[in-house]
Amino acid sequence: MYAVVALPLPFKFHSGGYEGLTYSIPSELTKRALVGSRVYVSLGKRYATGVIVGLTKEKPPEVKKIKPITDVLDPVPVFDTAFLHWSKWVASYYLCSWGEVLETALPEGLRPNTKMKVHLVSKPLDEELAALRLQAPKRAEILAALSEYPNGVFISHLEKRHNFKGIYGQIFALETDGFVSIEKPMSASPKTKKQRVVLLSEAIENDTTAFSNALMEIERTPKQVGVLLKLLQQKQLHPDEPLPQKLLEKQVGTTSAVIATLREKGYIRFEEREFKPIIHEEVLTHSEHDITNILLNDEQQAAITSVKTAIDNGEAGTFLLHGITGSGKTEVYIALAKNVLESGGGVLVLVPEISLTPQLIERFERRLSAGRNINIAVQHSKMSLGERFRSWKMLASGETNICIGARSAVFAPVQNLKLIIVDEEHEMSFKQYDSTPRYHARDAAVMRAHQSGAAAVLGSATPSVESYFNATSGKYQLLTLTKRAQEAMLPKVEIIDNRKAPMRKEQMAKQAAISPQLLEKMKDRLAKKEGIVLLQNRRGFSTYLGCSNCGDNVMCPNCAVTLTYHTVGNRMHCHYCGFMQTKSQVCPTCGSVRLYQGGVGTQRVEEELREILPEARVVRMDLDTTAKKGAYEKILRSFASGEADILLGTQMVAKGLDFPRVTLVGVVNADTSLSLPDFRSGERTFQLLTQVSGRAGRKELPGEVLIQTMQPQHPSIQLAKEHDYVGYFNYELPMRKQLGYPPYSRLVLIEFKGKKEETVRDRAFQFANLFPVKGSFYERLGPSEPTIKKLRNEYRWHLLIKNFRHNDGSGEKLRRLISGALELYQQRHATTAVRVTVDVDVQGVL
Ligand code: ADP
Ligand code: ZN
Ligand code: ZN
Repeated sequence: MYAVVALPLPFKFHSGGYEGLTYSIPSELTKRALVGSRVYVSLGKRYATGVIVGLTKEKPPEVKKIKPITDVLDPVPVFDTAFLHWSKWVASYYLCSWGEVLETALPEGLRPNTKMKVHLVSKPLDEELAALRLQAPKRAEILAALSEYPNGVFISHLEKRHNFKGIYGQIFALETDGFVSIEKPMSASPKTKKQRVVLLSEAIENDTTAFSNALMEIERTPKQVGVLLKLLQQKQLHPDEPLPQKLLEKQVGTTSAVIATLREKGYIRFEEREFKPIIHEEVLTHSEHDITNILLNDEQQAAITSVKTAIDNGEAGTFLLHGITGSGKTEVYIALAKNVLESGGGVLVLVPEISLTPQLIERFERRLSAGRNINIAVQHSKMSLGERFRSWKMLASGETNICIGARSAVFAPVQNLKLIIVDEEHEMSFKQYDSTPRYHARDAAVMRAHQSGAAAVLGSATPSVESYFNATSGKYQLLTLTKRAQEAMLPKVEIIDNRKAPMRKEQMAKQAAISPQLLEKMKDRLAKKEGIVLLQNRRGFSTYLGCSNCGDNVMCPNCAVTLTYHTVGNRMHCHYCGFMQTKSQVCPTCGSVRLYQGGVGTQRVEEELREILPEARVVRMDLDTTAKKGAYEKILRSFASGEADILLGTQMVAKGLDFPRVTLVGVVNADTSLSLPDFRSGERTFQLLTQVSGRAGRKELPGEVLIQTMQPQHPSIQLAKEHDYVGYFNYELPMRKQLGYPPYSRLVLIEFKGKKEETVRDRAFQFANLFPVKGSFYERLGPSEPTIKKLRNEYRWHLLIKNFRHNDGSGEKLRRLISGALELYQQRHATTAVRVTVDVDVQGVL
């Protein structure tokens, strides 16, 4: 028997295309060498981990000497055949190797080894060591080194410390010979930890008089009171889930000393409980009033019926749920999910990264678990490896059937998958652009659903032009929600022409970011204690430092972009590479000191607010304030509870938030996204404005929106004012058609990057010359220099390929063309000085 092993190597190493390399299976491994298991194999002079993707009796004719598999790393396969099948499609569509896709699909990657610890079973006798030295000198060396670590050592550490390379195979052999034992924490099931939980003591738990007496006795110490009230609430709301001490301390904002005191007084007791994985932190005090019994309206009902029917009939299908902001899309998702879960099916919910909208997760959790306990596996980028692994394990073992996650959750091992929901399907963050595989989670999800016989529901108030096109052309089924729930009205939108804005006197030189009209409305809302959301889609203080003598801007030394000034630390940052330096006082081009701060970032708006509305409490939400785990939730919590009056931030504030108290939304400058040199900038602007407007007036209180702009007549702005999505689509589509952009084509970006500009340019031209400018199914654009010519000290050149969608099989032809060209390029021109990446369905081309 032979095994085909997919390895996470760039596809050039794969003479066999995307699939893998063939290895023989030693007899002692035949029982464990199953399709879907990870294996350890030798590859040239080193070792690598891969996945068995196929078994075959036939020896491939072109290979002379077949090497054996060194070890099988999983006790049972980690991938099932359906998943393998789909992941192979992902690899071929996005032009990378199968192994690269499988590697992304596991929380720990393909190498469980990184955390593998090795222990010496017993110290080897001198004779044994001597014999081993003759037979396998390297193994003897490792064994000798191991005696330094009586408590065991991580293999990766051993490698680094002793300068060993590729020693896994040797260590496996030592294990077979009984010299060492290997501990694989990540491959074994996670240990269930015991954890201390806090409960009210029996004396006061069920005796209200005793409880009030206790409260009276401690009334002077509000922290203690807080703890008791929290415990009471927990007991009433979630009697089966007592609070772990740590979480309790955090939620009440208290210390272990306070808890200890309460215990001494006999008001609380401790218990040790099995650890229930808490995958996300509890976050928001949502407006709970209406939550439990929602009567879905006709449109919602109709949407649910369509999807349900498809699921019940076992038909795969893709639905586009186009519902205006606040129309109750999330309620539709919840109803559908509930239905699927009740009949034993699996549900996958994909949401855009940034926030992963803790609000949404909480809503799902609360609504789905009504009456029973439900665990939602959550996946996002701020989770630790351990958390991610637990979440993966919960799904793989079938312990839970529902996963909510960002982009990478499209790979989650949901069992018996029946429904995939992609919320805010138009969001760019679903596309992975910075590492292989460069997949689009929405599109990959549609394919996964299709292959699993599941339904895919893509939801948005502002669908991407591509998805809406698919819906109008019958590829997707269109479902629409045209009304806001509970008769809430869409907000009234007013456009403020920034060209006419007067300079505010006290600020002479710099133009005020907030117009008098906006200021007026803000004062009104502050007086009424209603919430205000302000969008300024640029972080930092000023977005560039310009010289009024020579006209140059201060640039990043590594990237061809301007540096952004941040007030914190009086520094300039590069938002692309992270470069930082103290603010310059002179112009690096001409030496003049006449530098000015141009462009308005969130920090500057914040400063201006402090000047013009000193009494207002402002929270700022952008990448700088949300970097820390839990920071995002904290900001939202303070705004939701009314502790803060104004939520100011970048596009993060536009997304998915549902706060009834918000009645005013201000867009400080709508032009920032319009001016980007990208064919999608108009679409992005329309989406952003519509989405942020949607934050206003979601419940009883009517909402109002003010958009400040220099281009008041621009269709993206005018149509956003009218909340006219279909109008925007009808305006945008003919332009796409004329220019041959998506959805009329598929765009593939081939990027060349390297330290020497010349070399990069040459390779781009050599690659381009491998095929003609135009063919029946494609057109080549470039090579050309992108807008940002240099990033992180590397020069860039771009080659863009438009793949016409009008004739059948054009996608297949394109893949053949590009992989062929890549292979030729590898043979003739490749150099390590230039890196080549391929991005299929590229999003932003800057
Ligand atoms: P969307 O996801 O489309 O922005 P949501 O699902 O968040 O909209 O709904 C907006 C608000 O309206 C939420 O607070 C939700 O609980 C409420 N809501 C949705 N549907 C109904 C309904 N049929 N009846 C009452 N309230 C509803
Ligand atoms: Zn200058
Ligand atoms: Zn930079």
